[in-house]
Amino acid sequence: MDSDAPVFPVRSARGVRLTLEDGRELIDGMSSWWCAVHGYNHPKLNHAIQDQMQDMAHVMFGGLCHEPAARLAATLVKLTPEPLTTVFFSDSGSVSVEVALKMAIQYWFSQGQSEKQRFVSLRSGYHGDTFGAMSVCDPETGMHSLFTQTLAQQFFVEAPSCRFNQPCTEQDLQPLAEILSENHQQIAALILEPVVQGAGGMRFYSADYLLKARQLCDEYNVLLIADEIATGFGRSGKLFACEHAGIAPDIMCVGKALTGGYMTLAATLTTQKISSSISQNPPQVFMHGPTFMANPLACAVANASIALLLSSNWQARVKRIEQGLSSGLAPCADLPQVQEVRVLGAIGVVELKQPVDMKTIQPAFVEQGVWVRPFGKLVYLMPPFIVSDKDLATLTDAVVRVVSAL
Ligand SMILES: *Cc1c(COP(=O)(O)O)cnc(C)c1O
Repeated sequence: MDSDAPVFPVRSARGVRLTLEDGRELIDGMSSWWCAVHGYNHPKLNHAIQDQMQDMAHVMFGGLCHEPAARLAATLVKLTPEPLTTVFFSDSGSVSVEVALKMAIQYWFSQGQSEKQRFVSLRSGYHGDTFGAMSVCDPETGMHSLFTQTLAQQFFVEAPSCRFNQPCTEQDLQPLAEILSENHQQIAALILEPVVQGAGGMRFYSADYLLKARQLCDEYNVLLIADEIATGFGRSGKLFACEHAGIAPDIMCVGKALTGGYMTLAATLTTQKISSSISQNPPQVFMHGPTFMANPLACAVANASIALLLSSNWQARVKRIEQGLSSGLAPCADLPQVQEVRVLGAIGVVELKQPVDMKTIQPAFVEQGVWVRPFGKLVYLMPPFIVSDKDLATLTDAVVRVVSAL
């Protein structure tokens, strides 16, 4: 982060608007990093937390359980691909990735294959900021050089070059196939973000690649971990991005929009096969236990957020946002400073040829009355699903104006 880039104090947020301390109102184009899909200060979500607070804000989740968590687990199992039946709650996306990695290792250990301890991931991938998660992030954008001494050494394959809606050739799969074929005895799992690579590059790749990667994992006895922390809950146009390929992972991480942006909560889901192998073989418990596991306030608001999403005709909303982003950002494609404009679901990306200067671009967006937070060469929009056509047009116009002036 750039230390002299300005920081804007916020007083309140409602719907798609952030009100700054100085009284200025900004239309939110970021959903607070993928989370606030229903916008801010939603009465139903406020009520869910307030109601839960009357009963209990928190109890430990060891030896105790509670209805909000049980209900949320049942809902997640119902909504995610069929074989995922077991849910492990944690407090953030990065931790849910740590849990997924540990689950994969412990599963192979329980199968007598304790040499399977390493992971393969895709370049341009992003999976979080804790050490295990960092070790599977893109080595260049994931701060690897700074932490090489302590980071676990993993395998990386080129980011898929086949784009969304394009078929995928043998050649596209070759780098992954090669690494799996040579190293599968040591590899516990392939971890990837299905179809949409988020913070590591905002790229959309072929669902066909995902399908074929699933097949390669089966062929080489390697688990597939789908990191749906950014893509989960409708952002890419499907409830979960795995649905674009019709595949089921062995382990799935969800977070971010899980609580509609209200509380920090994440979950790692897995199959009966993996969870029972872990619990039926020594040490018979999964070796992870967060203090704030399944926090009742977070589970209650997650239940309310998912119910709100499912009753909201979100597919039509995301489609409408996709169309608004495509037409609204199209003028950027002709600008000499722009490398590419791409849109998928409620995600619109303008990739520039040069990195932006946050010191100047951030205030420029605030001047336009919008909250847009670029990084590197990427200026992107992912507004709350409730955004109106008019506010969406204000967001895309602001991007066109600010990018044109670069
Ligand atoms: C944000 C993100 C994470 C990390 O989640 P945190 O809640 O920030 O720890 C992991 N994977 C993906 C794909 C993400 O977008």
